[in-house]
Amino acid sequence: MTLVVQKFGGTSVADADRMQAVAEHVARTRRSGDDVVVVVSAMGRTTDDLLHLAEQVSGVHPAREMDMLLTAGERMSMALLCMALAERGVPAASFTGSQAGIITDTLHRKARILEVKGDRLRAALAEGVVPVVAGFQGVSSTRDITTLGRGGSDVTAVALAAALGAARCEIYTDVSGVFSADPRVVPTARKLPRVSFEEMLEIAATGGRVLMLRSVEFARNHHVPLLVRSSFTWEPGTIVIEEDPSMEQPVVSAVTHDTSQAKITLSGVADRPGIAATLFRRLAERSVNVDMIVQNISHDGMTDISFTAPREDLAASREVAESMLGPLEAAEVITDEDVATVSLVGAGMKTHPGVTATMFETLAAEGINIEMISTSPIRISCMVRSDLAEKAVQALHRAFELDAA
Ligand code: ADP
Ligand code: ASP
Ligand code: MG
Repeated sequence: MTLVVQKFGGTSVADADRMQAVAEHVARTRRSGDDVVVVVSAMGRTTDDLLHLAEQVSGVHPAREMDMLLTAGERMSMALLCMALAERGVPAASFTGSQAGIITDTLHRKARILEVKGDRLRAALAEGVVPVVAGFQGVSSTRDITTLGRGGSDVTAVALAAALGAARCEIYTDVSGVFSADPRVVPTARKLPRVSFEEMLEIAATGGRVLMLRSVEFARNHHVPLLVRSSFTWEPGTIVIEEDPSMEQPVVSAVTHDTSQAKITLSGVADRPGIAATLFRRLAERSVNVDMIVQNISHDGMTDISFTAPREDLAASREVAESMLGPLEAAEVITDEDVATVSLVGAGMKTHPGVTATMFETLAAEGINIEMISTSPIRISCMVRSDLAEKAVQALHRAFELDAA
């Protein structure tokens, strides 16, 4: 018997009808002879609503209590789905992250999984019961409830698939797969039938939020094939899998954009060994994930350092940057939230010159100024003003002829 993990995102379980459609699909999967472990997200916008509620109640948000609050959303989903399955004669039992044995570190709001025990899930499967697990949560090594970061139910699903030896992990969402651009921004975007882990990592890291980045890392490291599908149409989706070396890789597979970052600039920093090391060590100690970094040519022994970080880490980044301000160390910290990155991702890029030039020419023709640039062997990212990001994505999608045929 094959074991599959099926994860249903927020829109897939948003209301009673959706819950029933999901229950029907799980029942169908069981009838086809497969064993299923289900992972659910909070219904619709529940997580955002809980965050909003916390803002209304208090200006102080102890991380431990925030995690206790946020995990409530997934609890509702798992219990309701088990009821819908029971009505269909499918024995099912709900499990919190803690009950499923998902052990994390102690970093609230962004906890990382240290171990998946999964004993109770194996026992349930052995009894013919479908385990329905609350996504996005675990229990820390000091026995507090933790959450895995926004979009973290994807990580729960992949971690369970790896720990239980599932044949694949199916991610059900509101689009029918991974597209050549966010279909909300480029309605003519093409569904990619197959994407390599390397490309998917870059797509997820640069704003293609259809899969959370950490889930892709986990899947690649543990060789878990991922299937992204629609829970509305159930049509064949996108398979994310190891690259096939016998196949020619597309030069550009996807255009992504990310409006969740902010730019922090330290101007007038002393240009001597150790300054950057101290700055980025302090950022790491505050768990800030820095993305792009630019340091200018120095003038009179002084230079500027700019970096980008998630907007939710802006306060921490600013504090760290300001801690570098000394009479001779730096003159000023400037933050900018109106930035976005647009990126091209494609495994064939490494062997095709000219992609960068076409990207820059396309943005220039649209009158879009490039503020920062970063590259990897299979990605080029440009920072632009945030209100121009969608226009940039649409122009690049056209320029690289990525529209559906
Ligand atoms: P879920 O709640 O199911 O986890 P998400 O909202 O996290 O769903 O992810 C699905 C969304 O990702 C889609 O609605 C789509 O707008 C967005 N998205 C961004 N980039 C892409 C892309 N390249 N391909 C598919 N979807 C994308
Ligand atoms: N409910 C959580 C969120 O909205 C986790 C998830 O949906 O994956 O971020
Ligand atoms: Mg998601």
